[in-house]
Amino acid sequence: MKVFFDERQLGHAPDTYFRRGAAMPHPEQPQRAEILRDMLAGEGFAIAAPRDHGLDPIKAVHNPDYVDFLPHAHARFVASAGPDALAIPTMHPGLRRGKEPRDIHGQMGWWMTDTSTPLTENTWDAAYWSAQTAIETAEAVLSGARAAYALCRPPGHHAMRDCANGFCFFNNACIAAHHLTSKFKRVALIDVDVHTGNGSLDILYERGDIFFCSLHPDPATYPTFYLGHADETGEGAGLGASLNVLLEQGASQDDVLSALDTALAAIGEFAPDALVVSLGFDMAADDPLAAVAVYPDGFAEMARRLAALNLPTALVQEGGYLGPSLADNARAFLTTFREATT
Ligand SMILES: [Zn+2]
Repeated sequence: MKVFFDERQLGHAPDTYFRRGAAMPHPEQPQRAEILRDMLAGEGFAIAAPRDHGLDPIKAVHNPDYVDFLPHAHARFVASAGPDALAIPTMHPGLRRGKEPRDIHGQMGWWMTDTSTPLTENTWDAAYWSAQTAIETAEAVLSGARAAYALCRPPGHHAMRDCANGFCFFNNACIAAHHLTSKFKRVALIDVDVHTGNGSLDILYERGDIFFCSLHPDPATYPTFYLGHADETGEGAGLGASLNVLLEQGASQDDVLSALDTALAAIGEFAPDALVVSLGFDMAADDPLAAVAVYPDGFAEMARRLAALNLPTALVQEGGYLGPSLADNARAFLTTFREATT
């Protein structure tokens, strides 16, 4: 199984964000990727760096104006607010009527929905190479690989067409899925990160050629990402091509695997030609953001069932934070997927 990662993804190192009324340490740390990278090397995966595929594959799923805003945003913020200020927006346009302002602070609120995507000096490089890693993985699948894994960081599945959200800047999984449609007529994207793939839902909601399904606790309460409710099934050409499978908070591993079977049955009905997996490990029982209880053997079983779809597959890393079992969960999933696809 081919594996891709670029060291420039480690450059995004946010210290702090605001949550529940307090500034707190940001969980999306470079160390996450270092742990996964070192585990992969220890398991004998050959890790390759992605080529540079440019901005076009990113702009194919994101608003080009949003993409063009990001490269210079941090420098402009520092020029305005000074080097010690937190590059986090503090105003937002609500329902987004109006126009993009020219002022950097207003623009940050225009293109970023919350406080969880602080800009740092190297954020652009990290997000850019995270997306390139996903594109390279899709390229490997387009070239005939049965399976390939993108060690993406920052993650992507909360990023919407027009904005950063929930630690995410570019929706790497949607970029990979769209890239695959150059060859595969029908693609399925399944999101097994514990959080709703609200960004993917936003981007794919009116597409009939990419089926999207996400497993997550009710977004009305955990945590509030606004999208991902059971009655959101797509619109227009995409009607029926979105599926949200809701879990109880505290769901057991068996509950999660049962929900996975529901999603896999729906994917089977869609009859895709290729698969993308938004692969989070934050369903782990000991994840710092834990909401359900999956253990390494559960991640291995998820890998077995996903591989049994027998589809060319791009695995795209999403969440999974600095809990004690992060490496064990990733090892269980990825070595099982490798064995099942070779
Ligand atoms: Zn997550």
